[in-house]
Amino acid sequence: MVPVFRFAPSPNGQLHLGHALSALINFESARKTGGRFLLRIEDIDQSRARAHLIEQILDDLAWLGLKWETPVLKQSTRFDQYIAAITKLSELNLTYKAHKTRKQISRFVSEYENKNNRLWPRDPDGAPFYPRYEDEPDTASFSIRLDMAQALNNTPDLGWYETGSGPDSQSGEIIAQPHLWSDVVIGRKDCATSYHLSVVLDDALQGITNIVRGADLFWSTSVHRLLQHLLNLPEPTYHHHRLITDTSGYKLSKSLLSKSISNLRKEGCSPDDIRDMCGFCDHDLVLVSQRPAQTAKS
Ligand code: GLU
Repeated sequence: MVPVFRFAPSPNGQLHLGHALSALINFESARKTGGRFLLRIEDIDQSRARAHLIEQILDDLAWLGLKWETPVLKQSTRFDQYIAAITKLSELNLTYKAHKTRKQISRFVSEYENKNNRLWPRDPDGAPFYPRYEDEPDTASFSIRLDMAQALNNTPDLGWYETGSGPDSQSGEIIAQPHLWSDVVIGRKDCATSYHLSVVLDDALQGITNIVRGADLFWSTSVHRLLQHLLNLPEPTYHHHRLITDTSGYKLSKSLLSKSISNLRKEGCSPDDIRDMCGFCDHDLVLVSQRPAQTAKS
């Protein structure tokens, strides 16, 4: 099978070195393995996506020496399919309407924590669990959440094959832990989808075999595996790569590492300088494209 890699930036800011590292790993891994390299613009948040930022991203990536297949998929063209997937999950009774705003949730959480002197549970990404039974269904606007308990009912144990290192250097067969997550949002109030939902649908649509992205998304993979199972989507291999962190002792905001690629270009950096600044090397490449046969699931 020809490996298919992708880089999927959100056009609500400029590319930084962390993005450059991710893009380079995907592009060079595709090149070394005879695979394909696709680009996807994750612009579901139309209030923050900017056309000039998309242009800038494409320009920076081309300047870095990357080549990708066209046309480039934009998530903003796919709202119908996202809504269809939410409808499918709703028909399976796996969703509910959640009316509380982010502000109301955080007010509820601080009141709970002050009153009970204990922490309210949180998702692996730090977001508080949704207080479903404290909902105030009298407001017109709502988001759609996945009913996690219901979704996990009748779902077999899930996992994925990790070729990266992940947090705590986890690699190989990983046990997915979607139960650590609350009722994740699958349809945001403002855009009728969410990162989790659109990413799994589009990785499937584009036939991505190797999802290579930053280690900060390692725990989200449990949610993605669950959604892939519920929506009958194929299981890719995952690789969560190192994040670029500043160890110089300077605050990230003051260091060179925090500058955008376009600013570094203006200051005279070359594409090779960017590769060096990311510390990009052969060790970063993803050359194992599949789950080894001996651990393959039957
Ligand atoms: N659009 C996401 C970001 O820019 C990447 C999502 C992914 O690679 O799964 O962080």
